[in-house]
Amino acid sequence: MTFASLSLSAPLLRAVEAQGYACPTPIQVAAIPAILQGRDVWASAKTGSGKTAAFVLPMLQILGEGRRGVGQRVRALIVVPTRELAMQIGEVVRRFSRAMPAPLKTCVVVGGVSKNPQRMDLRGGADLVIATPGRLLDLAADNALRLDDLELLVLDEADQLLSLGFSDELARLLAMLPRRQNLLFSATFPEDVCALASRILDAPVRIEADPAETLRSGVITQRVIEVDTAKRTRLLRHLLEVHGWSQALVFVSSRHAAEHVADKVKRAGIEAAALHGDLSQGARTKALADFKSKQTRLLIATDVAARGIDVPQLPAVINYDLPRSSVDYVHRVGRTGRAGESGTAISFVTADSAAHFRLIEKRHHLSLERERLPGFEPSEVSAESASPSPLDAVENAPLAPLDVVENAPPAPLDVAGGVKGRRKSKKDKLREAAARAAAVKS
Ligand code: ADP
Ligand code: MG
Repeated sequence: MTFASLSLSAPLLRAVEAQGYACPTPIQVAAIPAILQGRDVWASAKTGSGKTAAFVLPMLQILGEGRRGVGQRVRALIVVPTRELAMQIGEVVRRFSRAMPAPLKTCVVVGGVSKNPQRMDLRGGADLVIATPGRLLDLAADNALRLDDLELLVLDEADQLLSLGFSDELARLLAMLPRRQNLLFSATFPEDVCALASRILDAPVRIEADPAETLRSGVITQRVIEVDTAKRTRLLRHLLEVHGWSQALVFVSSRHAAEHVADKVKRAGIEAAALHGDLSQGARTKALADFKSKQTRLLIATDVAARGIDVPQLPAVINYDLPRSSVDYVHRVGRTGRAGESGTAISFVTADSAAHFRLIEKRHHLSLERERLPGFEPSEVSAESASPSPLDAVENAPLAPLDVVENAPPAPLDVAGGVKGRRKSKKDKLREAAARAAAVKS
């Protein structure tokens, strides 16, 4: 199969060649013709399989052939859950659209940076806007852009956008849109979002891969190391030394942990940076850019970096803290082993998180060997009954909102709060407070 056989225009074929793509990936083979035919598409395909080009290429072709924008109108919209992913897709669009005869106007609209340049940029409309939901709604409310003529909507990481954390923003956005072509892409579509997905789509072409395919494909070697909580940073340094990885992406569960671990490894002389939602957008962008350009060896990140972020040739992902949900596990692990390369994902399992990891495995029908490394043998005793896995509570509920989304609405109380057998998190308490405040107002 070649790109030429997918009915892409000559300039786009040249751009694909310039990217060094020899042949299309399976998701590209399946999705590109369907999108060019104007069909709605609902696509699940594993992490790192080229989903971005699968929707960007046909979109650019459709936009290049159609009537250009007038007034403030936006012709196509790509919505994503994080600012970093919006900017990354903006970069992909720039690379592919460079060779097009009549340049398309593309605007990236994200929070955390000042609104005015984006407002100016949107003057006279845009062929394509790539956005996070909060800022998009904000600018729409200011009449800085018009969505009532939209021809094409893409939700990338769609399951997350369809989850509870975004439900209010997504509903407000959909209410502004006319009938249009819809494209939903993700590596995972947990059952609870599927009903909503089908409501958005009109007779879609369903392209379906097993969500855990990434995990069982063998492309990514998954390892589990048992270790005491207090020895994890030393273990991390040990692994870097033993394996000599050029880089590793380390996931932690809080903004505080990201800073703390980054500080500790930096003091040990390793180039590292933290990436989380408490940083200024400038610092976030720099941390990721330095990591992508291989200037830092370690990026210590919260789940803000779990979805969609593409760091080519990333050899290793470390779950320093385990992800809350098994869906997040797929996305974190999928930051390595991209575009047909191989990679290693290592999860640190402590006495406290052992039960939780077993549930993640169960959800994905995995059974991974527990390793103990000399010098790091755990001595902590499992207190499993005292710390039930958060997975039971999270898993059947929609995904927790990322900590990055600007103005994310608090989730309704009935799902997040009051889940049996689970201690209330800070987020739960905030949600409850917000719900109480809302109840007082209404
Ligand atoms: P996904 O969204 O499926 O996780 P991406 O779209 O981010 O994956 O692509 C992952 C990597 O694969 C990117 O670095 C991208 O440039 C590369 N890639 C995409 N399509 C091809 C292709 N046809 N041939 C080679 N590399 C590709
Ligand atoms: Mg992607």
